[in-house]
Amino acid sequence: MAEETGKKRKVERRFIDAKTGEEIGASTVVTNADDVAREVTVHHVTAKGDPGKRRPIAIALWVLAIVFEVLAWLVFNGTLANLPGKLMIWLIAFIVLDLICVVVAGQLWKQANHIDPPSEANKASFFLKSQLGAILSAVAFVPIIILMLTDQDADPQTKKIGTIAAAIALAIGMGTSIDFHPASAEDLAEMEETAIELGSGTVYWTPFGHVYHLNPDCQAIINSSNIYTGDVQAAFEAGRTRACKFCANASGSDVLKDLSSTDDDTATDDAEVEADEELDEAA
Ligand SMILES: [Zn+2]
Repeated sequence: MAEETGKKRKVERRFIDAKTGEEIGASTVVTNADDVAREVTVHHVTAKGDPGKRRPIAIALWVLAIVFEVLAWLVFNGTLANLPGKLMIWLIAFIVLDLICVVVAGQLWKQANHIDPPSEANKASFFLKSQLGAILSAVAFVPIIILMLTDQDADPQTKKIGTIAAAIALAIGMGTSIDFHPASAEDLAEMEETAIELGSGTVYWTPFGHVYHLNPDCQAIINSSNIYTGDVQAAFEAGRTRACKFCANASGSDVLKDLSSTDDDTATDDAEVEADEELDEAA
């Protein structure tokens, strides 16, 4: 990525077990690198389990979220004017309950998709299934925001606070429900092939990278301060479905070379995306 600046940098690297979220080792390397602020949060990766009831529970929670949205609207338009206490409190309470349902449902849906991924054969259907959480977050808040904004008879103060609360809830709901690393059934098949090739060998990935690495000292992650470790299965559940190109080529395995990341998802991107996102975080 960046050209040699001639500046030596010391990088403290932490290795984190993806299943337990525990730090299992640390190392310090000295490299030539740009001065990117590297303070990244540790994200826990979901442990493997049966997708079993995650999808039905998510769907039930989305239905409940919409019920709370309707209740919030009924408070706002005066239909539920007989509720005890301040109506503003009820309005906010229903929006918060709506948000809690949406956030929990979104997490369950993403987990289920990483354990039992949808097929990528039909792009539209794949998008719908992998991003259903984000879509339903919009359904849970956009209608009430429009209704509140267009209600001419409403008290201006209630209208303002209600709209702001719902807009914040929309942002949180969508932000937590979008699947930034969606996995497909085709990826799963490739992962199984890779797992046979690699056995229970450890692979490595970073909080913002899109691929996993076979070598912890791979050029694409040598400057990363937080590195997750686990087997190929764990990497897959974290949404890293392919091996980095550099690592696959270095491994000498034809299977890995065939299945490694291609043009749109290169190891160089891995490092760059990370640097960019970390700059954003630092800003
Ligand atoms: Zn690599």
